[in-house]
Amino acid sequence: MNLGTSIGHLKGVGDKTAGLFGKLGIYNYRDLLEHYPTDYTIFSEPVSIQDIKPGAVCTVRGAVSGVSGPVKAGRYNILTVFLKDGVNSLEVVFFNQPYIKKIVKTGGYYLFRGKVIQKGAKLILQSPKMYREDEYRQLLNSPVPKYALTAGLSSKTVSKAVKAALADAEWDEECFPEKWLEKYDLVSHKKAVSLIHDPARLSDVATGRRRLAFEEFFYFIVLLRKNKSLSLSLPNAYKMIETADTKRFIEALPFKLTAGQKKTWRDIAEDMSGDFCMNRLIQGDVGSGKTLVALLGLLMCAANGFQGALMAPTEVLAVQHFKTVREYTRQYGLCFKPALLIGSMKASEKREVYGQIERGEVNLVIGTHALIQEKVVYKNLALVVTDEQHRFGVRQREALASKGGQPHILVMSATPIPRTLAIILYGDLQLSAIHELPADRLPIKNCVVGVNYRPSAYKFFRDQIAMGRQIYVICPKVESDEEDDGELENATDYAEKLRSELPEARIEYLNGRMKASEKNDIMNRFADGQTDILVSTTVIEVGINVPNATVMMVENAERFGLAQLHQLRGRVGRGKHQSYCIFVSSKDDEKTMERLNILNNSNDGFKIASEDLRLRGPGELFGVRQSGELAFRVADIYTDSELLELTSSLVDELMKDDPKLQKEEHRLLRAEVESYVERSEMLQSI
Ligand code: ADP
Ligand code: MG
Repeated sequence: MNLGTSIGHLKGVGDKTAGLFGKLGIYNYRDLLEHYPTDYTIFSEPVSIQDIKPGAVCTVRGAVSGVSGPVKAGRYNILTVFLKDGVNSLEVVFFNQPYIKKIVKTGGYYLFRGKVIQKGAKLILQSPKMYREDEYRQLLNSPVPKYALTAGLSSKTVSKAVKAALADAEWDEECFPEKWLEKYDLVSHKKAVSLIHDPARLSDVATGRRRLAFEEFFYFIVLLRKNKSLSLSLPNAYKMIETADTKRFIEALPFKLTAGQKKTWRDIAEDMSGDFCMNRLIQGDVGSGKTLVALLGLLMCAANGFQGALMAPTEVLAVQHFKTVREYTRQYGLCFKPALLIGSMKASEKREVYGQIERGEVNLVIGTHALIQEKVVYKNLALVVTDEQHRFGVRQREALASKGGQPHILVMSATPIPRTLAIILYGDLQLSAIHELPADRLPIKNCVVGVNYRPSAYKFFRDQIAMGRQIYVICPKVESDEEDDGELENATDYAEKLRSELPEARIEYLNGRMKASEKNDIMNRFADGQTDILVSTTVIEVGINVPNATVMMVENAERFGLAQLHQLRGRVGRGKHQSYCIFVSSKDDEKTMERLNILNNSNDGFKIASEDLRLRGPGELFGVRQSGELAFRVADIYTDSELLELTSSLVDELMKDDPKLQKEEHRLLRAEVESYVERSEMLQSI
């Protein structure tokens, strides 16, 4: 079947299952095969009872010496299986799985794989999966994919459907020329997809991944090069002059601009009053005060009688920017007439704002993607600012730009990347960097701890709350799912647990699956100080500014890339109070600790990212991810930085050798590039 075939054709996928896949955006073979695993479970050699460690997920083999229960405790029916290997014994605890009692035989040998929990003085194995010896042998050492799921859809069902699709799919011919595959040691696209979904060993995952990352970079860079030739050296269609507005604003602020802010502001002012259209990237670590510099640009724009737009990656962030601007406008008598435009607004409200924009009654539009929707017609859009660029594709940036005649473009990014990579990734932009943080900041106090530190942390929470401060707790997962082996904390259960630990605290939780309006409400309550503790997934990572929050605790810190942890840490230490960051690791091996301790010793995002890269072996490709830089699906600009450089020079050569891809050997490639460009164009109209 060709890749556009509906997944309903697959054996075992009926209407109901197809509906569930639909929720994940999977409709045809291609969607399904591009639903890459997020991680793999490795079934490792069993360990003996005396070697188990709290917090670790491990497999234990032993003889069952007895079963007790089930006993009722609250909403749980608890069953305990007693396991023995040699002289040591271990309690294996199951919740609401009374049937286990019927399956296990006293005296029989079994393997149990699950999480080791410290309970008082003893260790127990909690809710493990149970295997027979032969069953486990088969799983041993081959990676089993984990997929992003939705309620009702299990990893098993996804795996089965994927395997059926792999067997049945008819692929287009390989589009990369043979000599590239050889030169860069790449497998075909088809092979790569099958290795990713069905690897025999970890190195297969690496091989498949390498090809997929390579092509992601390749198409991205081709597109970028196309844009570059378009965007640089365009004449300045909105020439501005510096008025007293910006100067007065700077002087009225309660703080002084840092040297980096001043320099960046100069760059912007010169660009917008110069001969060419601005295309500039502001790179600055979290908390370096990029927003303020961008606002100066927008103020200059408004003072010149033009419109500006500020685009944020999330509604929460857009609302926050809007409030800041409204406050500044009121307090300092600025000439902004701002309007908010986000997807969750009522249609009538949106229409109202569209009208105001078109008539020019608004001179600063702050919003999310809704901004780039067709309906928005600007009167005279002269400056477009994009916050936290790494969440957007290049194409979206361009789409908004095309709204005006030829507006100036300013992009803000807190992604710490070395200059060489920045030149590749942002080749179509000029760079300004803010290297320092405002002087009045107290350095954040950090610690890396094991899970047994939690009680002390909660006590610390209590003290901070008593002082009126607020706290973030980050968990890697949204909620527990069927596949859960308990290795990762999830925000839903964690918030519940925390409520019973700290009954007096006001606790809420937030995740990316919630409706935008719900997320806004929760975030607003936190920003207003109505919530003490916000338990969240990493949706919080992007740009939120709540200066009263002083504690950031990250659970399963070992599962995050250091650059991402650094971003998370940037959510605190934004005000005058001493702030703290607690990284909780459920693994305490030397390597994990060494890696996490880099965060302890450095506050420099660039340095942290490169150290992370140095310490992580190529084996750790999945599992630990940096944040979703530039919306790559497989590729990671840190882990794959060498690949990025390779691809970049390949594209350079190609553009010299055959810029229009007219040679016969590039025929299939041209078709792919065209369809990639088309797809990114479609993205902009969503
Ligand atoms: P980011 O660069 O991470 O986007 P923000 O722009 O959100 O940082 O700024 C963080 C905080 O620092 C804001 O509350 C802002 O008002 C404040 N700030 C910005 N510039 C300065 C400065 N020069 N001195 C002191 N505080 C500043
Ligand atoms: Mg910011």
